[in-house]
Amino acid sequence: MYPITYISLPYWNERPKKTIIKSVVLHCSTHEAVPMIKLLKRLHLSAHFVIGTDGRIFQLVPEEKRAFHAGVSRWRNMYNLNHYSIGIELSTPKMGQTAYHETQIKAAMQLCRDLVRRYDIPSANIVAHSDVAPTRKPDPGIMFPWKKFADNGIGLWYDIADAEKVLENDKAVLLEQIGYDTRNPAAASYAFCRHFLPQLVATEDDVTKLIAQVYPPDFNIPDEYLPVLKACAYAFTKSD
Ligand SMILES: [Zn+2]
Repeated sequence: MYPITYISLPYWNERPKKTIIKSVVLHCSTHEAVPMIKLLKRLHLSAHFVIGTDGRIFQLVPEEKRAFHAGVSRWRNMYNLNHYSIGIELSTPKMGQTAYHETQIKAAMQLCRDLVRRYDIPSANIVAHSDVAPTRKPDPGIMFPWKKFADNGIGLWYDIADAEKVLENDKAVLLEQIGYDTRNPAAASYAFCRHFLPQLVATEDDVTKLIAQVYPPDFNIPDEYLPVLKACAYAFTKSD
């Protein structure tokens, strides 16, 4: 078992009755762990866990309680992810635009694997804050190692060979099949790229700009990447 340091925050409430934990939402912040916890406290927000760049894991809220981390959000049939999820914040100096530290990722994978096992969390529900709030959030950023996580049994990645098994060609329908809220198609498309096609997402030296404009308003996934979208839709619908 990995070591955990407890710093409890009072910003949580009860999950709705009969709600089960069935998702993990991953976040990042530019602050190191302890300053991040202080900031959350000032903002009356929380997450269940915070992981520092050195891999130290802090727990702020008991897992069974509803922490305040995802805000207005949707993924698949889950509206308001705070009801259903465990929220994990990672420290990273550039909002996930630079490589995450190896020890930090190792700690995050240990924690996630343990949560997945204990709550039997479906692979399709291991998501980014940007996946569940595509109009508002860019975290945990383009350098978050989703494929490595999937290779270690946490979340899903795609096999491009599966693209030809999918007949659907409508990008919005495919995004919906994966789990995105597509009421804003540009935002959903860009969030998809943050997770699965990070090479299409612009980097931003000024992190405040990244937060101020989360997606280019006219963004559309280029047609040449349609096979990636189809292969992802296959992976996510097959996992149901
Ligand atoms: Zn977040």
